[in-house]
Amino acid sequence: MKAAQFTYHAPTTTSEVVDLARELGDEMKVIAGGQSLVPMLALRLARFDHLVDLNRIPELQGIEREGDEIVIGACTRQAVVEHSELVATAVPLLSRALPKIGHFQIRNRGTIGGSVAHADPASELPCVALCLDATIMVDGPNGPRQIAARDFFLSVWTTAAEPDEIITHLRFPITSPNSGYAIEEFALRSGDFALTGSTAAITAGSDGTITHAALGFMGMGMTPLRAANAEEQLIGRPLDSVDVVAAAEAAVGTLSPSDDVHASAAYRSQVATKLCSDALRSAIEEARRG
Ligand SMILES: Cc1cc2nc3c(=O)[nH]c(=O)nc-3n(C[C@H](O)[C@H](O)[C@H](O)COP(=O)(O)OP(=O)(O)OC[C@H]3O[C@@H](n4cnc5c(N)ncnc54)[C@H](O)[C@@H]3O)c2cc1C
Repeated sequence: MKAAQFTYHAPTTTSEVVDLARELGDEMKVIAGGQSLVPMLALRLARFDHLVDLNRIPELQGIEREGDEIVIGACTRQAVVEHSELVATAVPLLSRALPKIGHFQIRNRGTIGGSVAHADPASELPCVALCLDATIMVDGPNGPRQIAARDFFLSVWTTAAEPDEIITHLRFPITSPNSGYAIEEFALRSGDFALTGSTAAITAGSDGTITHAALGFMGMGMTPLRAANAEEQLIGRPLDSVDVVAAAEAAVGTLSPSDDVHASAAYRSQVATKLCSDALRSAIEEARRG
């Protein structure tokens, strides 16, 4: 099947997109890499009278360091971020998560902002953004604003950005000394969306006790999730005294996945516990190395 007819717009500035949003409202949809939107249009699961292409807007592309953050334009290709040395050094979890997204052909077209905007709960980048306390910068007819990742993901394919707002940039905090990061996931076939997965971010003080802990989960609910209680229990613990299996059990115990066609809730929880313990162990080992 082919997409229903639409009018194509190719603005070259963000302010042109905002003007189009003001004029067209919910009759328009923005397209970035097209890796999620085009299949939906072609299958007629979605239909819009106007498509606004973000790919010709230079200000939405690129990777820069600003103070203690890395700022990435929403339309930057996933492959560009994957191969960025700056990102590998400054935001290692993001760098490690990217190769797990689909296949390289997908990452050559798919964008960072498109993945976060699409808000699939099984996706890597929303989970990484949540785990790292990233900030999502949006712009629209009511002006630019920033949304913390913890407030951004509302449900499956649903975010706190208004339909007439676009994501312009993502801001990721730069890693600090004595930190470790890991991502583990399980998919039925290589390149498939993960059935479930877990991210871990650990920072220790100079005395080797944990000062910051973040445990993220994908595929365990309607949005990417954090396990706040389990994270709090890790704070103040010496790195070498953490029972990673107990911590993972505590984390997954606070989540309520559902049965679906791919797996039962019990199976998801069992796999997520193993993935979380592996991710936490790796993150702790890296933090210990300093
Ligand atoms: C075979 C296949 C396998 C895949 N496997 C994975 C996987 O394992 N993990 C994974 O995470 N993803 C996977 N994907 C999805 C892929 O990562 C997509 O690239 C991504 O979800 C959407 O990014 P995009 O730039 O292609 O966005 P598009 O498809 O262009 O847009 C997706 C949605 O986001 C909106 N949007 C895009 N950019 C913006 C913006 N700047 N501001 C506001 N809204 C915006 C669009 O309007 C649309 O609603 C896979 C896709 C395919 C086809």
